Amino acid sequence: MSFAELWTELEPLGRDPGTGGYRRYSWTPADAECRAWFTRQADRLGLAVEQDRNGNLWAWWGPARENAVVTGSHLDSVPDGGGYDGPLGVASGLAAVAELKAKNFCPERAMAIAVFTEEEGARFRVACLGSRLITGVIDPETARGLSDDDGITLAAAMTAAGADPSLLGPDDDLLGRIGAFVELHVEQGRALAPMDAAIGVAESIWPHGRWRFDFTGRADHAGTARLADRNDPMLPYASTVLAARRLAAEHGAVATFGKVIAEPGGANGVNSAVRAWLDARAPDGDVLRDTVTTIRSAAEISAAEHGVALTVRQASYTPLVRFDEGLRNRITSVLGAAGVTAPVLPTAAGHDAGFLAARIPTAMLFVRNPTGVSHSPAEHADQADCEAGVHALALVLEDLAG
Ligand SMILES: [Zn+2]
Repeated sequence: MSFAELWTELEPLGRDPGTGGYRRYSWTPADAECRAWFTRQADRLGLAVEQDRNGNLWAWWGPARENAVVTGSHLDSVPDGGGYDGPLGVASGLAAVAELKAKNFCPERAMAIAVFTEEEGARFRVACLGSRLITGVIDPETARGLSDDDGITLAAAMTAAGADPSLLGPDDDLLGRIGAFVELHVEQGRALAPMDAAIGVAESIWPHGRWRFDFTGRADHAGTARLADRNDPMLPYASTVLAARRLAAEHGAVATFGKVIAEPGGANGVNSAVRAWLDARAPDGDVLRDTVTTIRSAAEISAAEHGVALTVRQASYTPLVRFDEGLRNRITSVLGAAGVTAPVLPTAAGHDAGFLAARIPTAMLFVRNPTGVSHSPAEHADQADCEAGVHALALVLEDLAG
C-alpha cells in the first residue's frame, strides 16, 4: 500500500466540482465516505477499527492496551478547504504502518491511527470537538446541543449517521491507553520552504482567541441622509479592520476580521449594525492580550467619532500549548540520525494534538507547504514531500514502539 494509492482513492471524496475545494463536514454523507475509506484501508492493513463514544475512529495494530503509540489527524474540512489539512496525517499514518509492516517490524507497544471528528468546527462551530470531548474540555450536554447553519443539532446529526450521542463525554479509559501521540500535518504558513527542509517538528501552538465586535448605529437612506448626520457602523468597523492589521504587525501577532454581517445589508442604505468576528493569535498570552486590548481601544475611539455604540465580547480562548520537550528531542534525534533535517517551529494553527498535549506526551511533524496557503483549494504539498513525511513518521513510530 503506497501513499500515492491511498491518496488517489481519497482525493475525490467530498470535493466540490465547481470550486475544487473540499466540503467534508462531520456527520454528512461526505464524512461517511471518508470514514468508509479509512476503515477499508485499515482493514487492508489488518488493523481493527473501532469508533469511540465521541465519534472518533481508532485503527489498532495489536490489542488496544496501555502505553500505546498513536498517530493520526482529521478528515473533515473547512468550507472549500484544501485536501491536505488533516487527511495528510491520516493517510501518512496508514502509509507509515504499511511501511513498517512491509519491513516486518513487530511493535513492542500497541499502536493506533486515530481520526478525530469535527476538527475544523466547520459544521458545529467548535474546533477540535472530538479531542475536546475525549479530554473533557467541553461538557457533553453543551456539545449535544451545538447546532449547524440549518439548526440541526450535533445529537440529531450523529443519530442520523447511526452514532449514539448519549455516549458523548470524557473517555479516560481510552486516554489512559495512549502513551504518546504524534500528529503529522501539512504546514500552514511558509517556514520550511525558505529553510529548504521537507519536514519540521512543532515546538508550540500560539494562544488564540475570537472576539465578537458589535457596532450599532442607525439605519438611514444612502441618498438623502447627509454625511454629517449619519451614524454609520460600517465606518468604525472599516477603520478597526485596518487598525487590527497595523497593531498585529506592531506586536508580532496576527489578527483577522474574517467574518462580518452587515444589518440590514441593503445596497442603498446605511446599516443599523455591523457584527464582526476578530481572530487573533500571538506568540504568548501577554502579547495576545495587549494586541486585542489596543485593537479594542482603536475601535472604541473610532466608534465614538461616528456616534456608534460598540460592544466587544470574547467568544473563545485557547491558551499557549507547549509540546512535550522529551518527546520532541527524541523525534529530532531519530530523524537527525536518519539524515532528515527537521527544524523546530511554532505554529499559529489549532490542532487536536493541542488538546491531547494537556494529558499525554504529544508531538507534531509538519510537511512542507511550498506556498504556505491553507484552508483553500490552493493548499498543496509535493508528492515527494508527502512521501518524506510518511518515511519520517515511520521512523518515529518505529523508534517509539520498538
Ligand atoms: Zn488540520
